Amino acid sequence: MTKTPSPQCLHCGRNDSQVPLARIRYRGEDYWICTEHFPLLIHEPGKLTGQLPGAENLTPVDHD
Ligand SMILES: [Zn+2]
Repeated sequence: MTKTPSPQCLHCGRNDSQVPLARIRYRGEDYWICTEHFPLLIHEPGKLTGQLPGAENLTPVDHD
């Protein structure tokens, strides 16, 4: 049986007893990010550099 580490936000480290967490899949790995920091992934992925491997390769989405 695979041991699953308790999920926590890749940015702030809070767990699912503190904040709602959304699971993301990237490059074959699963990550968790809280709803508060989910917008970073979309608009400012550069801020996740060092926390999400490959974040520097993501392109910010500009809705304007
Ligand atoms: Zn967070």
